[in-house]
Amino acid sequence: MNSPSPALPVVVIGGGIVGSALLHTLAHRGVDAVLLEAESELGLAASGTNSGILHTGFDSTPGELETELILRAARIRPAILDALGVPVIACGAELVPHTEEDAETVVALAAGAAANGVEVEIRESDGALLVPGESVSDPVAFTAALAASAVATGARVELDARVSSLTPGDDGIEVETSDGRRFAAAAVVNAAGLHADDVARLIGDDSFEIYPRKGEFFVFRLPDGATLDRIILPVPTKRTKGVLVFPTLDGTVIAGPTAVDLDDKDDWTVRPEARDEILAKAVVQFPALEGLEPIASYAGLRPAGRGSNYVIGSSEKDARLINVAAIRSTGLTASLGIADYVAELLPSIGVEVGPLQPPTPAASTPAAAPAPAPSGPWWRRTAEHRGALRAAGAGTGAGAGAGAGAGEEHRA
Ligand SMILES: Cc1cc2nc3c(=O)[nH]c(=O)nc-3n(C[C@H](O)[C@H](O)[C@H](O)COP(=O)(O)OP(=O)(O)OC[C@H]3O[C@@H](n4cnc5c(N)ncnc54)[C@H](O)[C@@H]3O)c2cc1C
Repeated sequence: MNSPSPALPVVVIGGGIVGSALLHTLAHRGVDAVLLEAESELGLAASGTNSGILHTGFDSTPGELETELILRAARIRPAILDALGVPVIACGAELVPHTEEDAETVVALAAGAAANGVEVEIRESDGALLVPGESVSDPVAFTAALAASAVATGARVELDARVSSLTPGDDGIEVETSDGRRFAAAAVVNAAGLHADDVARLIGDDSFEIYPRKGEFFVFRLPDGATLDRIILPVPTKRTKGVLVFPTLDGTVIAGPTAVDLDDKDDWTVRPEARDEILAKAVVQFPALEGLEPIASYAGLRPAGRGSNYVIGSSEKDARLINVAAIRSTGLTASLGIADYVAELLPSIGVEVGPLQPPTPAASTPAAAPAPAPSGPWWRRTAEHRGALRAAGAGTGAGAGAGAGAGEEHRA
């Protein structure tokens, strides 16, 4: 392996939550770092179209890398969220059993949670599993705050910077964007989400493949200003994890997501049948949704690995390219654990990494923010960008119709 020049920065490709957490961690560990994001804003892909839930890892498989990084993130994240002023609803979650099989699953989940060191409790009255540590965040604010804090600490963010070529050399890797910007990098971290496989192929690495797993959501406003005070998770079955119902920071309630495997990485539409699929399950969890018209819908695409999950490590073609790919379902939660793990890999390829410094406080970051703060709720901004915000239910099956759609509400 060629040794990198210490004068060169580390280039992070992709400005989702994972790339932004990487930038934050590198900047706060004394590493010169530059983030290149293809879009004109950060967090417009999976990181801006998810459930926004910070999981505890209570139901994660003990021993897997994903679980390890969820648990590692849980140790690092609270101080950073606090220092950066990222909003969080620390409401906890509950899973209510509806069948004998569900009740057995709850007992098994409680045992798994204990193995992961996550606090849970079984409620005596109905056998529900309570997970007090589960919380809801604003994933776009989280992404933007991490990047802004990194920039305030000396890192750089380049927007509209789609990486189109990687050329390994003696001192490092030359990174070029589609509009001709060039960056000499000591090492490159590939956090390009759905396109991480395309980026890896730029140096001939075709060791993994990413496909989109679509998740659709419907947004509701409860009557009389009511809100939901907890995350309602379904008890998983052998067939499905089911849909959840959760509150948002702007006072709405969201039901979803679906899980539909696709080939098209640009299909952010909500399928006509998604509404009935979600509502049938959501109403069982939260009967207050019965008969309500959704005010909006949106879809996210999980960057799923074909036969792989959490592909993190040096590329087999050049160790100075570190792939951070197939972060399918828990990247919001695990991002700071992933970044910590990657920072520990860098010394083995010759990049010096210092100890983690306390986060740069939010008060000092606005001037350095790489993009204007989004107006309106995060789920609306990203859905609009993707062209997926539509009159909810328009053209859909039973129950669809002339109710207030998202577009109408938006114009009002
Ligand atoms: C429906 C759904 C529900 C989810 N719910 C949760 C949840 O509740 N909790 C949780 O923890 N996780 C959840 N997730 C998972 C989480 O959203 C992802 O794991 C996480 O967003 C992945 O982050 P990322 O930064 O790897 O990818 P992305 O957010 O997809 O970011 C990748 C970025 O790379 C950029 N890029 C791509 N190619 C290039 C290039 N050539 N050059 C430069 N930039 C490039 C893209 O524009 C994009 O901004 C959910 C995901 C979905 C879709």
